[in-house]
Amino acid sequence: MTLDTEPEVIPALESPDDAIARDQLAEEHAFDDAFAGGRLPKPVGVDRQSRVLWEYVGPVIAFHLLIPLAFIPYFFSWWGLLFLPIGNYLFTSIGIGAGYHRLLTHRGFKCPKWLEYIFATLGVCSFQDSPARWVLVHRVHHQHSDHRPDPHTPRVSAFWAHMGWLFIDNRELSSAAAYDRYVRDVIRDPYYLWLQRGLNWVWVYVAHAIAVLMLGYLWGWLWTGTVSGMFQIGLQFLMWGVIMRTIYTWHVTWGINSFAHMWGYRNYETREDSRNNWLFALLTNGEGWHNNHHADPRTAQHGHRWWEVDVTYWSLVALEKTGLIWDLVRPNQSALSRKTIRSGVDT
Ligand SMILES: [Zn+2]
Ligand SMILES: [Zn+2]
Repeated sequence: MTLDTEPEVIPALESPDDAIARDQLAEEHAFDDAFAGGRLPKPVGVDRQSRVLWEYVGPVIAFHLLIPLAFIPYFFSWWGLLFLPIGNYLFTSIGIGAGYHRLLTHRGFKCPKWLEYIFATLGVCSFQDSPARWVLVHRVHHQHSDHRPDPHTPRVSAFWAHMGWLFIDNRELSSAAAYDRYVRDVIRDPYYLWLQRGLNWVWVYVAHAIAVLMLGYLWGWLWTGTVSGMFQIGLQFLMWGVIMRTIYTWHVTWGINSFAHMWGYRNYETREDSRNNWLFALLTNGEGWHNNHHADPRTAQHGHRWWEVDVTYWSLVALEKTGLIWDLVRPNQSALSRKTIRSGVDT
């Protein structure tokens, strides 16, 4: 999961989506009716020799064990619940949805480097791995969607797709060759390379957690004027603004890999099981329109029908109007029209 070797001289890279499309054509997966609905074994890179990734298992278990604590009166507050939608929007919709996914993975818009780094750093604060690792996994997912090399297809099992795949090393994803093949464009950037080394991306997450705690202490001191009030409100900020918000955003993001490949409707005929899942689209501010996304991965607009709410895309349109981002990729209507399912929904 970490890249300990210096990448070799990096030649100019074709666009990531071009590379993925080329490989897709070369491999021509046989996604026929006989295969539809079939089960798959785990990817080839996962076997009995595969290491359990305790550095993932540990935090996920520890955070979940803290959930009951969040509801005892000392840690609970109604205003603390507001951290979930606000934190979900800021750190996960903007950080992961716009930053890691629509920008770094699919290059769906352009922006200044400083803004790209802000997007990516907000993504790091969602505790969903480093940018390079996240992008690598997601590009492999698009290249092999719902076929055996897909890192997280529900054809293995719903649990595997949701979170099981995170806990065991998949050699196809962790080799230096995989980083070189799939994320050369990301890892060549010194900031993303630094985040990838050792646990640097984890320390960024820890630093933001400490910042939230300090903000809570400050707010508690100003609000109550007592040391006990300062400590209590600081810990409430940490519990709801970091721990509970992280758990919430883990599951809604993981739900795209699991639920949005199992349940929902399809606007387009695509070569995998992707679905538009309205619940996860609302929970993630747009990522759940996943069949639309698989039909046209490059576009930053995931909601294609007027009622397919895509707050992340609307945020990008607003940023485009300010001039902070540009070349926002719109849906490719001619390509999409060839895939459109005319009869309406197909669940
Ligand atoms: Zn997918
Ligand atoms: Zn994608």
